Amino acid sequence: MKSKLNNLFVFQNRTIRDALEALNDTAEGILLLIDYNGKLLRTVTDGDLRRLILTGCSLVDTLESLPEKKPIVASYLDVPISLLAEMNRNGINHIVLVDSDYKPTGIALRGDIDKSILLSSPHMGDEEQNFVAQAFDTNWIAPVGPNVDAFEQELAGKVGSSYAVALSSGTAAIHLALRVLGVERGDVVFCSTFTFVASVNPILYQGATPLFIDSEPESWNMSSSALERALIDSSQKGMLPKAVIVVNLYGQSADFDKIIDLCDKYGVPVVEDAAESLGATYKGRASGTIGKIGIYSFNGNKIITTSSGGMLVTNDESLAVKAKFLSTQAREPVGWYEHKEIGYNYRMSNILAGIGRGQLKVLEDRVNARRAVFEQYQNLLHDCVQIEWMPEAKFGRSNRWLTALSLKESNIDVGSIVKAISKENIEVRQLWKPMHRQPVFSEVKYYKHEEGKSISDELFKSGLCLPSGSNLTQAQVKRVASVLRNTLESM
Ligand SMILES: *Cc1c(COP(=O)(O)O)cnc(C)c1O
Repeated sequence: MKSKLNNLFVFQNRTIRDALEALNDTAEGILLLIDYNGKLLRTVTDGDLRRLILTGCSLVDTLESLPEKKPIVASYLDVPISLLAEMNRNGINHIVLVDSDYKPTGIALRGDIDKSILLSSPHMGDEEQNFVAQAFDTNWIAPVGPNVDAFEQELAGKVGSSYAVALSSGTAAIHLALRVLGVERGDVVFCSTFTFVASVNPILYQGATPLFIDSEPESWNMSSSALERALIDSSQKGMLPKAVIVVNLYGQSADFDKIIDLCDKYGVPVVEDAAESLGATYKGRASGTIGKIGIYSFNGNKIITTSSGGMLVTNDESLAVKAKFLSTQAREPVGWYEHKEIGYNYRMSNILAGIGRGQLKVLEDRVNARRAVFEQYQNLLHDCVQIEWMPEAKFGRSNRWLTALSLKESNIDVGSIVKAISKENIEVRQLWKPMHRQPVFSEVKYYKHEEGKSISDELFKSGLCLPSGSNLTQAQVKRVASVLRNTLESM
């Protein structure tokens, strides 16, 4: 947008002529009618003014003659893709952004958003539509069918796991993992604090209590020293956890040898939240296959996607069978509907599994493309001394799902960097806000990496993710890098 937002404001006491002149001067094709408190009443376009004149108003009449019309607005916090969806829904090319007091903070224009660069957008290959078409042709439009079975086999084969169960989401997979491991009301489950809330919620679905474990600086994933202290304390209290959920953040595996050794010592199973790390490795093994149970997500922003979906993998046949049983309403294998347990409707649809089969074929390409995006950023910004890139631990290969970095200067406010870059229609995000900082988990116990040193807090305060999609062009990565550089220089 070329003009200042203030120039677009008009009050109801102005005349139609004033408004026409303002439209002419600002050349945005829109004015914002506001009340004396600065709240948005409606938008005004040339067409609105023309209609007024056709109904008999003259140029000296005021804008009070305009009929009331609820403007289509969005929150200034909305991401570009949802603004675009809202424009499409309403057949319009701009949306006024308002704050919680309904005061305009900006206008989103379709032209600008079309130029926007998203954090991680879906990237389809060539074969997805064939698998989906097969499902249509054979009328397998259900959460059962040949694509579901084939997707499970193909994914299990790819990661080298004995069993895979295709589910409706990664969250559902974590929930079933806890369920089949016997997590119940009153149990405790440890979980990485530095993660997305979906890692933790299933603990609460089971009525169990979470306990949060900090990260280590080498991998940004679970700190084995914090885990060890938590296990020692819990064992002394006779309250060992029923499971430990270890998250592989931003596409990098946690350092599992240490974690599994500790958990084995106390006989606690590990659930590996590999939602973000499909295609990564740990000491030559596929990420997601190290824990007793691993889970993947195929949500729209993940490295491969089925639009939404998830997978549970394990080498334990009985756990896989139980998970599949629970995902289909716990229906007993008899000729009528017989239920001895409470199950869920968590199975993946045969249509979505078709998308998954196509996506799985290009997984390696997607990993390589994301790693190339990371390298391009690193090269373009190598002289920015404030930037510390997320390290790649020696024990494996990250899929670089998101290019993540932290800023060394402690006085930098990452919130305002995100805001400044968003103004350029580039979607950047702060790193995950640790779970022990979430109001909803304010009562939950937390173990820091070291006494007086909380790694996840430091990362949250100083870190960012950059647009990292495998379908970004080199020119887009360049644009992001230069906007980031300019923003840092201006801070
Ligand atoms: C995306 C994600 C999930 C949840 O997966 P859904 O398929 O969206 O339910 C869980 N954990 C982490 C770390 C994630 O990034």
